[in-house]
Amino acid sequence: STPGGPKFREEKILVTVRVRPLNRREQAMYDLIAWDCLDEHSIIFKNPNHERPATPYAFDKVFDQSCSTHKVYEEGAKDVALSALMGMNATIFAYGQTSSGKTYTMRGITENAVKDIYNHIKNTPERDFTLKVSALEIYNETVIDLLNRESGVLRLLDDPEKGTMVEKLVEEVVKDGQHLTHLIGICEAQRQVGETVLNDKSSRSHQIIRLTIESSLRESSGRVKSFIASLNLVDLAGSERASQTYADGARLKEGSHINRSLLTLTTVIRKLSSGKRSGHIPYRDSKLTRILQSSLGGNARTAIICTMSPALSHVEQTKNTLSFATSAK
Ligand code: ADP
Ligand code: MG
Repeated sequence: STPGGPKFREEKILVTVRVRPLNRREQAMYDLIAWDCLDEHSIIFKNPNHERPATPYAFDKVFDQSCSTHKVYEEGAKDVALSALMGMNATIFAYGQTSSGKTYTMRGITENAVKDIYNHIKNTPERDFTLKVSALEIYNETVIDLLNRESGVLRLLDDPEKGTMVEKLVEEVVKDGQHLTHLIGICEAQRQVGETVLNDKSSRSHQIIRLTIESSLRESSGRVKSFIASLNLVDLAGSERASQTYADGARLKEGSHINRSLLTLTTVIRKLSSGKRSGHIPYRDSKLTRILQSSLGGNARTAIICTMSPALSHVEQTKNTLSFATSAK
């Protein structure tokens, strides 16, 4: 194979799109399906005015509304998730407007990844594994521990060896798959806290579940080889928080709805994908990108699952999502 060929594929970001079914509210208002999945890789806007044909968007995979989360995991996340077992940091994001299916998708991806990781551990008896989990939420650029809410607002520290660390973040040692599922349940319950008081909290906050996988292998020479890497499972704030305008065209000042972490993340991803990795990448501009820095770019593996409603009423936001997805390829 040509040098750089297959390796380039590994370095690039895996970008997929998942279309959810029309929801009840959309059905009740006789919303129309505005998108056609042409094949497993492309999706096209069905132009209702037939003025001029639309151009299809192409991605590594397009999952239509009939696809199960298992399929989304297998084809859009698995390779990236399992690379953490081999010592490569990995990040899987769900990106899309509020109610497009990010949380639904990330729950399923997490469940599938946990099962898969434990299967691999079982099938690799020659290696000793230790799994740890931590979980945090970023809301208005404040970081909260989802496994220990009592600790309040957490600070970020710069460690010369380890990079950005979250001070006092709890890391639980995981006993088995069931224990991990239980801990993830605690995070989900914690994430609900404050949801009724701050009614759009879930659309503004980011959640990161981080699995840290350590393993050691005794080679025949007697030498011990060790691996350590993190898998970050990230449920982002609604992508409408990264765009300059709402659907009605009203321009809003930064701060009123723009989310700094989300905006910085999109800039970082665009820069990483543009191939000019040597240029300045503004990781330091937000909490989210500081926390994920060692798991984004460099030798890390990344998958982005862009979620979208098929409804005509959401077409402007969906086009924004697909244009971000295009720039991430
Ligand atoms: P988001 O996190 O992007 O705001 P959610 O994941 O909460 O959106 O999804 C909004 C609603 O749509 C939820 O009720 C969810 O169960 C449902 N939903 C999302 N994606 C799918 C899907 N692929 N299939 C069926 N229902 C879905
Ligand atoms: Mg959500």
